Amino acid sequence: MTEHFDAIVVGAGPAGNAAAYTMAKAGLNVLQLERGEYPGAKNVQGAILYADPLDKLIPDFREEAPLERHVIEQRMWMLDDTSYVGMHYRSEDFNEQRPNRYTIIRAQFDKWFSRQVRAAGALVLCETTVTELIRDDEGRVIGVRTDRGEEPVYASVVILGEGVNGLLGQRAGLRTELKPDHVALAAKEMHFLPQDVLESRFNLKGNEGVVIEAMGTVTAGMIGTGFIYTNRESLSIGIGCLVSDFVDSGTTPYGLLEAFKHHPSIEPLLRGSEVKEYSAHLIPEGGYKAVPELYGDGWLVVGDAGHFVNGVHREGSNLAITTGRVAGETVIALKAAGQPMNKKNLRSYKHALDQSFVMKDLKKYKDLPSFMHKNRHLFDLYPKLMSQATQSWFRVDGTDKLSKEREIIGEFRKQRGFAGLLGDAFKMMRVWR
Ligand SMILES: Cc1cc2nc3c(=O)[nH]c(=O)nc-3n(C[C@H](O)[C@H](O)[C@H](O)COP(=O)(O)OP(=O)(O)OC[C@H]3O[C@@H](n4cnc5c(N)ncnc54)[C@H](O)[C@@H]3O)c2cc1C
Repeated sequence: MTEHFDAIVVGAGPAGNAAAYTMAKAGLNVLQLERGEYPGAKNVQGAILYADPLDKLIPDFREEAPLERHVIEQRMWMLDDTSYVGMHYRSEDFNEQRPNRYTIIRAQFDKWFSRQVRAAGALVLCETTVTELIRDDEGRVIGVRTDRGEEPVYASVVILGEGVNGLLGQRAGLRTELKPDHVALAAKEMHFLPQDVLESRFNLKGNEGVVIEAMGTVTAGMIGTGFIYTNRESLSIGIGCLVSDFVDSGTTPYGLLEAFKHHPSIEPLLRGSEVKEYSAHLIPEGGYKAVPELYGDGWLVVGDAGHFVNGVHREGSNLAITTGRVAGETVIALKAAGQPMNKKNLRSYKHALDQSFVMKDLKKYKDLPSFMHKNRHLFDLYPKLMSQATQSWFRVDGTDKLSKEREIIGEFRKQRGFAGLLGDAFKMMRVWR
């Protein structure tokens, strides 16, 4: 362990794995340290895997990776207490040769990804927590200390892929403590069902899968969403809200999940299932404005540790893999050019991210978090009004359609006022522009 590495990668989640794989594949001497018993042991995700960023790293990953189902149908549900208003998109086009999205189980997927990292030549040590970053007299990060002993390990650069609750970076003063309104807490369960029951319940054949994203009164007035994803023989169900909202409301994440499971539109999907796993995890939700410093003398930050989650589109693992890859490529290029891994040179990592979908997407929604804080009625009032309106529209009760239309519009105006409705539409357009 007195060896000097080209790079040390902290964490074996998708971000750390992508960084370590990229560098090891290019022949760099890489050490990856993971505190879990095995990669994925401590990781939680819904989980939808977006194929594109992995395609760029391991084009034939579909042949071996533990994938559950490819997603052919997306359901977006807006729930009130007894109903949902939904938009479903299902397409045979998603039954393509190289599907675009898959459901996965992270414990299995991370193990597989880590095997690729080892095969590429990195030294991967699990059950090893990085406890401290080591700096030289000028403050440059030159290595790490771990809980395996006092001996430091040195490297030209340390890549921090330690996830959302990155205590290492915080302790080293590279970023501030997480703010409760910048992070969601999600509770998740795995419900097992016989494969044929699951497939007939969701109208699936072969490896086809469905994902459901849900919002509305199920989050009890808090900012958050729920989900149900179909795996091969199980359903992943979860719900998450901002930590600050949990604190203010006194609601517990598991209380919320219980209520979600018992919603009349959700309960029949789970009926007869056996729960085998519980978990809870944080999700960065602060968006663009919460992204911390991403590079410095001898260090880079990737994945959730850099707050790289697109909360609107429920994307995180793809940003993690992409930032990991780009960080790896930055280090490879500097080493090839014989350049030091100092702040000035590592700036090219941020520059490359700025040119990519990662920063462009985060930037696009930069005002969304504050918009949601100021417009909580979107999570409560609007789902109720939408349900009321839809029910009124479909109920045949002798009322003429013009009267129904007036009644529906009147109810929206009564609840939000004409100016309120116009203001909401305008604000939504501004956020989405
Ligand atoms: C409930 C839930 C549902 C989600 N659903 C989706 C989804 O469907 N699709 C999607 O794309 N994203 C989803 N996400 C987000 C996604 O999971 C993350 O964006 C992604 O896991 C980030 O990867 P990462 O490698 O940065 O962090 P992580 O996956 O958290 O990995 C960090 C790793 O670092 C290790 N570590 C931490 N500290 C140390 C240390 N000091 N020393 C050594 N090792 C350390 C941890 O053990 C861990 O293995 C979801 C998240 C949650 C919580």
